[in-house]
Order: sequence, then C-alpha cells, then structure tokens
Amino acid sequence: MSWQTVRKDPAPRVPPNLDDYDAARAAFSWSAARAELDGLPGGQGLNIAHEAVDRHVATGRGEALALRCVGRDDTVTCVTYRELARSTARFAHVLRELGVGRGDRVTTLLGRCPELYTVVLGTLKNTSVLCPLFSAFGPDPVAQRLRLGDARVLVTTAELYRRKVAGQRERLPGLRHVLIVDEGAGELPGTLAYDALTAAAPDTFAIPPTSPDDMALLHFTSGTTGTPKGAVHVHEAAVAHFATARYALDLHPDDVFWCTADPGWVTGMSYGVVAPLMHGVTVVVDEGDFDARRWYRILAEQRVGVWYTAPTALRMLMRTTPRDGPHDLPGSFDLHALRFIASVGEPLNPEAVLWGRDVLGLPVHDNWWQTETGAIMIANFAGCDIRAGSMGRPLPGVEATVLRRGEDGRALVADGRVTEVQDPGEEGELALRPGWPSMFRGYLHDERRTEAAFADGWYLTGDLVRRDADGWYWFVGRADDVIKSAGHLIGPFEVESALMEHPAVAEAGVIGRPDAVAGNVVKAFVSLRPGFEPGAPIRRELLAFGRRRLGPAVAPREIAFDQHLPHTRSGKVMRRLLRARETGLPEGDTSTLESTEGSA
Ligand code: ATP
Ligand code: MG
Repeated sequence: MSWQTVRKDPAPRVPPNLDDYDAARAAFSWSAARAELDGLPGGQGLNIAHEAVDRHVATGRGEALALRCVGRDDTVTCVTYRELARSTARFAHVLRELGVGRGDRVTTLLGRCPELYTVVLGTLKNTSVLCPLFSAFGPDPVAQRLRLGDARVLVTTAELYRRKVAGQRERLPGLRHVLIVDEGAGELPGTLAYDALTAAAPDTFAIPPTSPDDMALLHFTSGTTGTPKGAVHVHEAAVAHFATARYALDLHPDDVFWCTADPGWVTGMSYGVVAPLMHGVTVVVDEGDFDARRWYRILAEQRVGVWYTAPTALRMLMRTTPRDGPHDLPGSFDLHALRFIASVGEPLNPEAVLWGRDVLGLPVHDNWWQTETGAIMIANFAGCDIRAGSMGRPLPGVEATVLRRGEDGRALVADGRVTEVQDPGEEGELALRPGWPSMFRGYLHDERRTEAAFADGWYLTGDLVRRDADGWYWFVGRADDVIKSAGHLIGPFEVESALMEHPAVAEAGVIGRPDAVAGNVVKAFVSLRPGFEPGAPIRRELLAFGRRRLGPAVAPREIAFDQHLPHTRSGKVMRRLLRARETGLPEGDTSTLESTEGSA
C-alpha cells in the first residue's frame, strides 16, 4: 500500500484537542466523557437540549452567539444562546398544550431557517422525538416517512405544505397537527400558525426528567443502497456528539463553525445542531444552495474557523478551481480565519485532500460514520499527519475491526461466530464493538433488519475496508458495490479516485457490468470538467490513464460520459442506479434521488 503523507501543521494557531493519538485513546473512557456533561438539574437525567442550550445560559454564556443564519438574500439573523433557550422553551410549551408528549414524533420539513433550530431543541426539551426530513423531498417520500415515522406533528412552511402534504393529509390519520412557520397558515385548512402559538407561550420551561435511554431523534438513512431505514437515537448520544466533535472536528469554545450538511440528514443534525451547540460555539447556517462563489464568501465574511463539508461539495469546488490551475476565485476571498477542514459522507479522494492543502492552504481531514453510528467513528485528527485517501483511525472510545468476508461479500458468520482478519491490508467488513453512546437502538419497526446488523458481539457496518499495519482504515466500498471481475475484487472508489486524478475528470461513478466471461467488467461513468468534450480521443486517453494507474485487472474497460451522474439528495453517487440503468433492471427506491423533483 502506498500513500502520500500530509504532515500535521507544525505551528497550529490553537493547540489541537488531540495530538497524541495513543495517549488520547489510552486516557479515554465513555464514563469520563459522560461526566463532562451537566445532566439535568437535580440529577433528573440527561437531555440533549439542556446540554446544547440551557446549560450555557446557566453558566453565564447566554449572550454568546449560537447561530448566524445567512438567508437566501444574504441577510444575517443572529441568535444568542439566551434567545434560543427562550424560543425553545416556548416551543416546548406549544407541544405540551397540544397534548404532544414523551416519545411522540415531531417531524420537520423545513429549509435551513432559524425556526428549525428552535423546533428541534424545543421538541427535545419536551422529551418528544424529532424526525427531520429533507425539504427537497417530493410528496411521496415525505408521506412515506411521515407514515413510517408515526409523525404526530409536522412543522413546515405554507408552500411546502401545499405542494407536498396537503393532497395526502387524509391518508395520514396519525398526523394530528401541522404548524406553519411563515405566513399563510390562516388560509390553509387543518393547519396552525407557529408564530401565534409560540408568541402566546411562556419563555421558560422546566425540562421533565429524561432518561439517557429515551428516544430523541429518528433519522432516515440516505437510501444509497436501498429503501431508507429509520434509525432510532437516544439522548445519551449527546455524550458521543460532544466527545467526537472535540476530537475529530477539533472544536474549541470560541470557534465559528460551519457544517454544510442539511439538518435533514444525520450529519446536519449531529454536527450542524447538537454537537457544536453543546460546545457553545457559533454555528453558521446557510439557507442558500451550493454555489462556489457564495460558499467562499460565507467562509470569508462569517470568518469560519472550522468547516465540516462533504466530498461532493469539494468536488464541485475543485471543478471551478483545479489544483494546478489559477486559484483566482478562492484567492479573491480572505480565508484567514479558516483553520480546520473535515469531510464526511463518501470516500474522500486523495486528490481532494491535496486540493485543500494547495488551494485553501489546509488539507481536508476525512472521517467516517453512518446514520446508525450517530457520531464520527473513524477520523483524521487536527494534531496528526494525514494519510491521503485513508479515513483515519478509530476515535478514542471506539473499537473497530475488520471481519473476514463470505461469499455474499458481507462478514462471514459461521455458527454465530465471525473471524477478524489478521493480515494488514486484507479486505473485510468494517465492524464496531457496541457500547459507544450514540449507537442506534434499532431500525424503527424493523426488528429483522436490526438483528441482521449485529453478529457475535459486533455491529456490522456494511462497508468494506482495509486496515494497514499501523491501524489506519482505508475505505474499499460498500459491500453491495464491490465488483467481482475475473476473480478480482475491485472497490469502485479506488477506480473513481484514480480517474479523478486526470485533469479532464470532474467526477466518476464506477460499477461492474455483467459479462459472460469475466463475471463483471469495470465500467466508469465520467463527468468532464468544463473545457473537455466527450468523444473517442478522451475515452482512449482515460482508458490508458486508468491502466497505467491501476493495472489492467482493475482499470475500467469501458467508459461512458454522463454530465449528470445520479446522486442522493445528500450528495452521494448512487451506483446502484447506474447499475440498474446499465442492466435494464428496475431502479428500486428512488425517493432520495437528487433529480426526482425540482429543488424546493
Ligand atoms: P443507506 O444505508 O440507506 O443505503 P447511506 O448508507 O448512504 O444510505 P448514510 O448513513 O447517510 O446512509 O451514509 C453512511 C455511509 O456513507 C457509510 O456507510 C459509508 O458507506 C459512506 N461514508 C460515510 N463517510 C465515508 C467516508 N469518509 N469514506 C467513505 N465512505 C463514507
Ligand atoms: Mg447505510
């Protein structure tokens, strides 16, 4: 295995929270991490909203800025911790008045507006369960999730309600209350006005006793590999959110932090709402959509220090500013406040790590986790070197391993037992030892799938990895995506990464196309950078480039050009759709496909 090492910053502006990996692991325990949280006053348990909001007010930090929300029209709305404590108290009262109580599901279908934060944390204060939906979902995925999640309350806007919910309301008998956050509630039958209700409510609220095991959040997975699953998370997850944000995102109390993920997904909730607010930092929220210039402007104007984003966004930025080209666009902004960049959600190509270093002056730190794990499990740390292309090493408190695979590509379970791989570099399924506080407590209404995710004392992630001799983890692919070709097992990510090193390639999606002789042949769908035209010459060049980089057994044998690779709404390449289209099979669940409906 070979890789490029990107050295840690020899003179960091702030001392990193983790600079000696082995020492941090040795010193860590979850019970000590739990002891750093306040818990509810009077020993009444643990509630995420108390840790994220009220405790800062109680410790004299009420005037610190919790949120800086940048509107689509660039107006900035600031919210202090004290204001957030009051608005969330009001919303908790509203729920109580409506007869919504412990464990009842409150669903949001909202853009990234200030009300969203109030609703999320107010719901948790009331010990109800928050289930966020991505606002760009179409009517069917919305109804499907409202039903699956037993939604009792929906908080949304007049327009989203009209377009996505009103027509199906009769088929959602469990949905008792719909609250409309903007104007228009009056004209919509069967809805209530959020403003009027919250204005009439008191602005203090005593959080009822909350068990760390009480359900807090319900998150649907991205649907990359199939029908989305509803993962159940509890208040105790806060312990992991706090600890992992300290180590993997290097959050310090005075930071300005921007997580670009939408709170409709687990990243946007765990690290766009809960973890940073627990740390008392200022969270930047952008209501607008991706636009390279806008993003650089927000980084500069909001003086973002720590930035958590995703490979798909980085690839879009790389498209406008190649590493070896002129850096005019980012160069025209003052990005000096920026001190740490992390990424999650998909494999981060080594090229993207180096792009960050060369274009923004900071390498990108990849980290790995899933909706099910609730928090970052494997990461590259601010105080450690980066092995470009590796997801990093397990966080303190996280025990990971690699399990030998069976015929179906998943961990081999024989008589209930699994086997850990012994040789460094051997591919297998990534597994985690249950016991970290943010582990999902099951898929809602799906015991069979929940059970299938555990074996022999391990949680099986469904992802294939290699671990090198020093304990760093390298993503190979999802067990479902791995290509078997002429006796070789090929991870699509490796092929995609190699192709992305070619200056013409903006993005690639790689699949196995069934073949009578080889079993599968590696086929790449490639989108090109501006200035490059699809055609035979570039195809020949990319095929040769792939062979040089990867060798003939792994290199793509076929290349197709596609400027619109299918992505999930959270930005991941949907290889299963490329496969279905290639083989003429049904596309399956496309509710999370990016282009099923115009963006909201
Ligand atoms: P579904 O489970 O519905 O198919 P999903 O797995 O994409 O959807 P998420 O929980 O949002 O839903 O995503 C977690 C997955 O994303 C991981 O299991 C892994 O496959 C991928 N992933 C996340 N971070 C990384 C990373 N740093 N490197 C490689 N893959 C990553
Ligand atoms: Mg998954």
